[in-house]
Parts: sequence; C-alpha cells; structure tokens
Amino acid sequence: MNSNEIDIHKELKKYFGFSQFKGLQEQVIKSLLTKQNTFVIMPTGGGKSLCYQLPALTQEGTAIVVSPLIALMKNQVDAIRSLSSENGIAHVLNSSLTKTEIAQVKKDIASGLTKLLYVAPESLTKEENVNFLKSVTVSFVAIDEAHCISEWGHDFRPEYRNLKNIIKQLGDIPVIGLTATATPKVQEDILKNLDMCDAKTFKASFNRPNLYYEVRTKTKNIESDIIRFIKQHKGKSGIIYCLSRKKVEAIAEVLQVNGISAVPYHAGLDAKTRAKHQDMFLMEDVDVVVATIAFGMGIDKPDVRFVIHHDIPKSLESYYQETGRAGRDGGEGHCLAYYSYKDVEKLEKFMSGKPVAEQEIGFALLQEVVAYAETSMSRRKFLLHYFGEEFSSETGEGADMDDNVRSPKTKVEGQDQVVK
Ligand code: ADP
Ligand code: MG
Repeated sequence: MNSNEIDIHKELKKYFGFSQFKGLQEQVIKSLLTKQNTFVIMPTGGGKSLCYQLPALTQEGTAIVVSPLIALMKNQVDAIRSLSSENGIAHVLNSSLTKTEIAQVKKDIASGLTKLLYVAPESLTKEENVNFLKSVTVSFVAIDEAHCISEWGHDFRPEYRNLKNIIKQLGDIPVIGLTATATPKVQEDILKNLDMCDAKTFKASFNRPNLYYEVRTKTKNIESDIIRFIKQHKGKSGIIYCLSRKKVEAIAEVLQVNGISAVPYHAGLDAKTRAKHQDMFLMEDVDVVVATIAFGMGIDKPDVRFVIHHDIPKSLESYYQETGRAGRDGGEGHCLAYYSYKDVEKLEKFMSGKPVAEQEIGFALLQEVVAYAETSMSRRKFLLHYFGEEFSSETGEGADMDDNVRSPKTKVEGQDQVVK
C-alpha cells in the first residue's frame, strides 16, 4: 500500500463516512489522480459520483462537472454542501442564477474555495463562462451521463458534442467520462467524441443476479394476466411501464377496480399530482405505479419487487434501466415483459415521422428488443452480450434466473435451439 492509497481511504472516511470503496471506485480515482483521461462504465447505483467527487475535494482548483439535468445537479450540490461547513464548496452555474449569484459563484471559484462546479452543457458553451474558466485553476472535467454524446444512447443531447472543443480551450486537463448505459457502440462514440481514445477504461459488470427475466406473449387477456401476477405478489411494490399516457390511465383504473392499490404517473399529469403519486409509492401508500418512461429517473426505492412492461421498450438499454429499478436491495426482482409483434409495428410507425438517420437507429435498436423477446437462449446472457459482456450460462451468477433457462422452449421448426 503506498501513501497515496492511504490518503484516499482517509479522505473517503473523512468526507463521505464510508470505510470502503465500492467496486472499481478506488482504481478509477487513482487513474484520475494521476491525471489520466478516464472512462467509467458502471450500472446505475454503482457509485459513479464519488469517482469524481472525492478527487475534486482533495485536489487544488475546481473540478467542472457536466451533467444534463438541473434537478440532479441540485441534489448533488446539496449533498456535497452537507459534507462541509462551506456552502461555496460546490456550486451550480446555469441560466437560472441572478447576476449577484453568478458573481458569488465566480468569487468562490477564483478564491479556491469551490471544489466542484456543476454546469449544464449549454452553460459551458457561453463564451463569458469559458473565458472565466480559462482564468482559474481547473483540476479536471467530469462528464456525467456521457452517453448523452451519442445518438446511439437513449438520451442524445447535441450540446454534448461541443464539450470537446470547450475542454480543449481550458488547457491540458484530465477528463473523466461516466455512464451507466454503454453498449460497445455508445462507448466508442463517447471516446471518439471526447477525443480521449487514450482513456483508461473501467467497466463494471452489468449483471444483476437477483433479477428474474421473463417474457410472455401478449394476448387480449393481458389485463387479467397482470392482475393475477400482482395478486401473487400481494403487498409488494411494483412498477408497470406502458407506452402511452392513455394506456397508463386505463391500466391504473383496471387495477383499482380490481382492488389493487395503484396510481398513474406520466408527463401529462400536473407536477403536483406527479409528486404526490411518486411520494405515495415511495412511502408505500400504494403498491403499484403504472407509468410511462417519465417515471423512474432518480427514483431510489430499494424494495421494488417487480417491473412489468405492458409494452415493449424501444431499446434494450431502456429495458435494462427500467428493469434495473427492481431489487435494488439485492432481494427478489421479477422483470416481466409482454411482447407482441404488433407492438413492434406500432413503434415503427411512431418513428416513421422522424428524420431518416434517427429512424434507422430507432429500428436497429428495436430489432435487438425483438431478438431478445424471441430468443430461446439465456436472457441474461443475451442482455449482457448486448452490453459487450461475456456471461457463462452455466457458472455465471444468476444463470438460472430466467424463463428460458428454467423452462426451455420446445424446439420450434426452423428455429435454432441455442440453450445448452
Ligand atoms: P451512480 O451515479 O453510479 O448511479 P451514485 O453515485 O448515485 O451512483 O451512488 C449510488 C449510491 O451509492 C449512493 O447512495 C452513494 O452514497 C452510495 N455509495 C457510493 N460509494 C459508496 C461507498 N464507497 N460505500 C458505500 N456507499 C457508497
Ligand atoms: Mg450518477
């Protein structure tokens, strides 16, 4: 153990109160502290924030953290401030600040007080901000949710494409990119667009051994099937994802009529209702949330026991994210998806109004979902392969946790039987 190592453990305890690093955190932090460009791929909840927060707190200068969502930035800034007696230790720089507030932020940075500066990518493109940052000491730049740079990711944000040029203007400083959703394609895009193919890459396993994956054929009896499923999981928390707001409302109502405590959640509800329904779910006043994909970002309920996809998701990355909300505590998590080819056609029709390039990507992503739904091989192996990860369906953790492995399909004419 060298002195550097002892230090970061001490800092970990001092700032965060943790006595151990999680997963690859220690290696990532060491890489960044030796000023190397670093790339981190870890599932949600893996502890990515600490990978840049700890180095930021222990180094001279200010670390710039690029993050796409103002709400997430605020949460993080509040969390960092609670670790310190100085409010100025972390700041957000965005368009919602008043002139006075901006002056205070700049003063704290210039004086060396601010260790973390959270910015939205569009604020970073402003010339006056860039000029200011050029005049101060920047320890490194962290790009959170780095998949936003790729059209193949689930949340493409064109502003992320400017980041490389801005960072270059700040001088020779290390960059750390972080994401939870990196297929090999997205991964390549990130490294290329950030011009950091030399980055040291750290990839954690995406395997969630406690999740059980199941796909059922969608029939007209889907509603009674879902009701039966929920009644078998009486009193347990679950999420049902639907494609449309209308479907969300309809399913929530059907469940309520059948004596299941459920609330709807979608972007068409006013903010107050949404917040109320979310709280009811978190506080366990209701068992089930029926939702569009608007529900889930940043929701951290550890004991969600099932996630049902009433309609197929638009990509396997979305599917992984959404099912990933089950079993966060390591306990049971049943992931049930209903599949019918009609839904695929519906989604394709949805996409047909979009620009051609976007359509092509959309179709390709959807085809992977179809392949997943129709496969007879281990679903876990299929999913992990999609994320560029080799999984042994004999010895891998959670190997028997899916419908295909538990009850192999009988061989269908003309279809390859892949299950061993
Ligand atoms: P991600 O950004 O990868 O989704 P977060 O950075 O939000 O994950 O961290 C997820 C959770 O893990 C947080 O509650 C955080 O406090 C916790 N955490 C991070 N590092 C550690 C650690 N070394 N020991 C214990 N808990 C940790
Ligand atoms: Mg994060």
